[in-house]
Amino acid sequence: MHIENFEIALKKAEAWFKKTLTTDQMETYYTNLSFIPDAAIVDIVNEMIKATKPNPSQFPTINDFFSGWYKWREDHPQMIRKPKKQNCAECGGRGWLWFRPEPEDGCYPYEYVIGCEVCDNYRVDIGRKRKIPVSTRAKLEMRGYEVYPYDYVARRKKYKSIEEMAVDIGNE
Ligand SMILES: [Zn+2]
Repeated sequence: MHIENFEIALKKAEAWFKKTLTTDQMETYYTNLSFIPDAAIVDIVNEMIKATKPNPSQFPTINDFFSGWYKWREDHPQMIRKPKKQNCAECGGRGWLWFRPEPEDGCYPYEYVIGCEVCDNYRVDIGRKRKIPVSTRAKLEMRGYEVYPYDYVARRKKYKSIEEMAVDIGNE
């Protein structure tokens, strides 16, 4: 965030709460809050003004600004840059491996999708919390599977419950 935008937002807060920060206080606020993007800071102050009585003792703390930022981030998911997938030779960078066993009687009995154990690119698609089975190309091939990189995003609709897939060959 540029300091000019920070000063505009803080002046607005000062006017509403009838309180003036010292230069030192202002610097401490800016040092702690400069990571907040320009687009967010005025919104955050406006929300505080809506929610709080105009009283000097209610002047938002740095922690209040953090809370305001978390809320803004939730309200504006489209403004937050998503983490990018890293290059990975194992899965072609997609984060997923698709595999199937040798055919039996000319048919493939099943096919599975599993997270790539070498990178964690699959996390970009499903978030940080969900626990899913992961493996490597080498482990799968050792068991006689055919293995291919898999584009989860493109085919998400086809496979809904990856958690259930391949539990028997997950983390070993
Ligand atoms: Zn990978």
